[in-house]
Amino acid sequence: MAKVADTKLYDILGVLPVASDNELKKAYRKLAKEYHPDKNPNAGDKFKEISFAYEVLSNPEKRELYDRYGEQGLREGSGGSSGMDDIFSHIFGGGLFNFMGGHSRSHNGRRRGEDMMHPLKVSLEDLYNGKTTKLQLSKNVLCSACNGQGGKAGAVQKCNACRGRGVRIMIRQLAPGMVQQMQSVCSDCNGEGEVINEKDRCKKCEGKKVVKEVKILEVHVDKGMKHGQRITFSGEADQAPGVEPGDIVLLLQEKENEVFQRDGNDLHMTNKIGLVEALCGFQFTFKHLDGRQIVVKYPPGKVIEPGCIRVVRGEGMPQYRNPFEKGDLYIKFDVQFPENNWISPEKLTELEDLLPARPEFPNVIGDAEEVDLQEFDTTQGSGGGQRREAYNDSSDEESSHHGPGVQCAHQ
Ligand SMILES: [Zn+2]
Ligand SMILES: [Zn+2]
Repeated sequence: MAKVADTKLYDILGVLPVASDNELKKAYRKLAKEYHPDKNPNAGDKFKEISFAYEVLSNPEKRELYDRYGEQGLREGSGGSSGMDDIFSHIFGGGLFNFMGGHSRSHNGRRRGEDMMHPLKVSLEDLYNGKTTKLQLSKNVLCSACNGQGGKAGAVQKCNACRGRGVRIMIRQLAPGMVQQMQSVCSDCNGEGEVINEKDRCKKCEGKKVVKEVKILEVHVDKGMKHGQRITFSGEADQAPGVEPGDIVLLLQEKENEVFQRDGNDLHMTNKIGLVEALCGFQFTFKHLDGRQIVVKYPPGKVIEPGCIRVVRGEGMPQYRNPFEKGDLYIKFDVQFPENNWISPEKLTELEDLLPARPEFPNVIGDAEEVDLQEFDTTQGSGGGQRREAYNDSSDEESSHHGPGVQCAHQ
């Protein structure tokens, strides 16, 4: 806990300077009830004091300012006479005041600048093989001509209108204990908090203290990195006087791949085969992400059901920081069936003799009605998911159906 410059406001609320927001709120509510002018007309300014103390301490920026600089931290700016003046004077004694808000730009404590986030698109190949790439970006650096001063020594003057705050804040009292705070950018210094005499202004940065510089970062995309992973360059973000630069953060964005879909360290792909391959074995090749030709063989006698998935162990993505360990490759088979009337009826009889026997036709007992089975286009919609599933085309790529259903049954 930082050393507290002044404890008066804490004393008013009867809490310690280490009080949490909740403790402050509780203390305030209790006291506000007790000293409300309606209930306690003789309490004088007590209620205003309580309100004022809470107003300051419940605002993190004001509280920090008060903790670090005490009364002086709150007594800033000019103009902006407000109804709270007297209560401020009452607590601290005499003078106009104004609150500062926003940035603590004129204090010596080094503020940390904001991180700069950039998306970095990478292909799946890059994430598989790793890649070093150069990224060019433009950022603010302290001006070397004036050492980030904006001009000659002494040329920079604190803005009188806002006392170097860059903003002017007015407090208006609406009712006892109710204040409205209005903040506006200082028009004298355009929010800079300081003014520089025209002739003393640094020529290089025109008094801005910083200049744009093109920076080239060497980015190492390691094998196995993932979508959304961050690559951080510490302290490489914009520089500004009195500010510790933030980080440049690159956010990896994995581009879609035409062949492979990634799932963690595993890869998924779909392969089309014909009915003869599904029944009689096959071989096919594909190009992997590192350019290798991979031959996939499946022996005669083993059957591939439509939509089923087979796995090739160790042909997935390399693990991040352990690239010799790889995930698996899952191949889904899309079995292409022949067209209608692809073979003559006589040949079909021959084929039937070769195929596993069909089940015996069950005896129809009693009345039965014969119906017509028609072609059905799944793209036309069927109304009702259940019906749709029942009519699902076996060649439908969307079908994840490879359970013990009719389509995938194999004897
Ligand atoms: Zn300069
Ligand atoms: Zn100003």
